Amino acid sequence: MVGAGPAGLSAALAAAEHGVNVLVVDRGGKPGGQYLRQSTVRENTPPELIQRAERHENIRFLLRHEIWRATPSRGSSRLSRQECGQSLEVADVDGRTTRSLLPGAIVLATGAYDRVVPFPGWESPGVVTVGGAQAQLKGLGITVGRRVLVTGTGPLLLSLALSLAEAGVDVVAVADPVRPRAWLRHFSTVVRAPRKLWQAAAYRGRLWRHRVPVWSGWEVREITSDRDVMIAKLGCGTKERTEIVDAIAVGHGFTPQVELASALGCALLVDPRDGSPVAQVDADLRTSRAGVFAAGELTGVGGADAAYATGALAGLAAARHLGRLDETAYQVASKPWRRRAAAARRFADALHEVHGFAPGWSTRVADDTVLCRCEGVTFGEVRAVQALGADDPRAVKLLTRAGMGRCQGRLCGLSSADVLGCAPLAYAHRPIATPVPLRLLMAEDLGSQDQMEEVHE
Ligand SMILES: Cc1cc2nc3c(=O)[nH]c(=O)nc-3n(C[C@H](O)[C@H](O)[C@H](O)COP(=O)(O)OP(=O)(O)OC[C@H]3O[C@@H](n4cnc5c(N)ncnc54)[C@H](O)[C@@H]3O)c2cc1C
Repeated sequence: MVGAGPAGLSAALAAAEHGVNVLVVDRGGKPGGQYLRQSTVRENTPPELIQRAERHENIRFLLRHEIWRATPSRGSSRLSRQECGQSLEVADVDGRTTRSLLPGAIVLATGAYDRVVPFPGWESPGVVTVGGAQAQLKGLGITVGRRVLVTGTGPLLLSLALSLAEAGVDVVAVADPVRPRAWLRHFSTVVRAPRKLWQAAAYRGRLWRHRVPVWSGWEVREITSDRDVMIAKLGCGTKERTEIVDAIAVGHGFTPQVELASALGCALLVDPRDGSPVAQVDADLRTSRAGVFAAGELTGVGGADAAYATGALAGLAAARHLGRLDETAYQVASKPWRRRAAAARRFADALHEVHGFAPGWSTRVADDTVLCRCEGVTFGEVRAVQALGADDPRAVKLLTRAGMGRCQGRLCGLSSADVLGCAPLAYAHRPIATPVPLRLLMAEDLGSQDQMEEVHE
């Protein structure tokens, strides 16, 4: 399993319970992923899913390790049942050693990263993503500022604002352009998910007790920063207000982390709900590569419930692939998870409709707004080279450097694709899934002593 979030853990348990020996690799110091993130600086009782996985005799964890590359394994033309023809290169996060894993089946549950729709000033220091702010708070106990505005769109803004307020931060407000009445169109979906309704009401109630207002219909128009002071100009129609803060947490949902799926040669698709690249899977969570399965956000952003359900389905399908489950047993075991996955999907579809962006959203962004934060390239610069005839992401990259920085298009790829009116798949292919020191690449070529091969089911 690659990823120890809800999808990876759920897949690990489903496969392990049918006798599969599972290795779970995650770059984090503790299992949990985004939703079940645990503090790495404080002792705490892990959530039940993590406890079950940690106690299971067939599950082993390899934490603080990243899969940085996937290659066809040697002799992949003559595969035994215990190989899926892929070798995964795993390095410790400090970049000291790398080695190969030869699994019989792979479940990719690599999750998603934050999506930010650019607005003037979003590149300023002090502007952090919602996921980043939550990761710092939950993982390290660090708050991003003393007086913080939480903005963007979606229910996760409420969750972050509450965590910050409970940690003693002065949360100015949660500003989201979407008004609750937008959910009326999805009344039948909402009443079939009373837990979500209750959760949203509970968040609002707890925020109210912390005196954190929720400004529905408001959005950030501009941020200016002068040393430690950040000035956020907000608007609601023609109404405007200005707030002085020292940090702004912004999030417009997530986009799946597809680089490993792409490196393994799995087919990718564009999710029509949000324009993000996703791994293409069938009803059994099989990707287009034999023996490689995908689950959770990687198959389309859908929240924790979808991640649990698709994870369990992928784990069961992997067990069937390895001959640990016959067809009848597989169908019986997977049935309840299919129902849960379908219900989660219905809710996620509504969420995308209410808080999503129709293609062409970038036409509303001014020319002088920064598109690529790493290289400081503006929307205007990308539009200028487009006017010269550069209409594919590669040409835009070469002419403007947009997408060439540290994030390699993870943050700006969707913006460039929207400006160009093309699919963002060109940004998804990164032969090296995660940055590693050159020393490791050289050690690879020289056949370093550090390397060894581990065969797993
Ligand atoms: C602030 C915040 C609040 C949220 N609140 C809610 C909520 O209230 N309700 C809800 O339904 N959802 C919520 N979510 C969304 C929820 O976190 C996700 O839907 C869920 O975590 C997805 O599970 P996953 O297993 O697919 O991915 P993740 O939980 O993201 O796990 C993916 C894991 O893969 C690992 N990984 C990725 N690539 C590699 C690699 N190459 N090598 C090794 N490891 C790798 C990562 O380290 C990570 O641990 C929230 C998210 C955030 C950020």
